[in-house]
Amino acid sequence: MAQLFDTHCHFPQARYKKPVDVLLADARVAGVSLFLDIGTSLKDNKRAIEMAELYPDVYASVGIYPHDDRNYSAEALEQKLEDFLKQSEKIKAIGECGIDSPSPRQGGASDERDTSNYGRTIEQQIELLDMQMRLAIRHNMPIVVHNRGGEDAILILLEKYVSQGLRGVMHCFTQKWEYAQKILEYGFYLAFGGIITYPSGENVLETVQKAPLDRILIETDAPWLVPEPMRSQDRNMPNEPRYIVIIAQKIAQTRGIGYDEIARITYENGKRLFTIGERRDS
Ligand SMILES: [Zn+2]
Repeated sequence: MAQLFDTHCHFPQARYKKPVDVLLADARVAGVSLFLDIGTSLKDNKRAIEMAELYPDVYASVGIYPHDDRNYSAEALEQKLEDFLKQSEKIKAIGECGIDSPSPRQGGASDERDTSNYGRTIEQQIELLDMQMRLAIRHNMPIVVHNRGGEDAILILLEKYVSQGLRGVMHCFTQKWEYAQKILEYGFYLAFGGIITYPSGENVLETVQKAPLDRILIETDAPWLVPEPMRSQDRNMPNEPRYIVIIAQKIAQTRGIGYDEIARITYENGKRLFTIGERRDS
């Protein structure tokens, strides 16, 4: 069976209706053999590291989401992230970090973030992202970037840091091909998730079709962004890593390439970007 790498998922038990070890077991049955558990806050990073230490096929990323841990300065958070990086060899990336503009996405479905938590200004978000990009360069680790309404700010930061060795992925890519091309020029990867199965995600399909195959990743963003058709059937269900199969199928269908081939390529891409199987050199 084709192996799959869910390069972006979150495993806080409280968000799921079944135990996390059952979630993992169900995903493995579907062919998922690598998971990157993405931390979003101080508390959540600790949780992600614990998961990675517990399960051989789970790796962790540590970062601060644009609106989390607002009581700390960027410098204080930088020190905290440095401390996390010492805790596990299985931390393979910095993130989730990025820009999340204060206007919430339309929809109101279960995959929406709780926007009552919004609060950092764009300037503060840029400062926080800038710090995490420098951290990633210093540790020679890829960065996992969240982008909602931060298109221009992110391009400015990539222009500043890619020449210094910054590499990474634009997670949950939803922009048009024109923007994708700019990101690809900086050497970044594009990760596709549930949104490419939504009617509202149709404008992403041109990018799904045209992006170089060696630069695409697949992800669920579980427990968020349940793919269709399940999303319409039950708006309250959490997403699960096993549904990564649907994302791979959608990409295969959009590009006219076999499912096994998409699984194999995205698996290799993920292992390469996140240096799975290699020792961290910092
Ligand atoms: Zn996420």
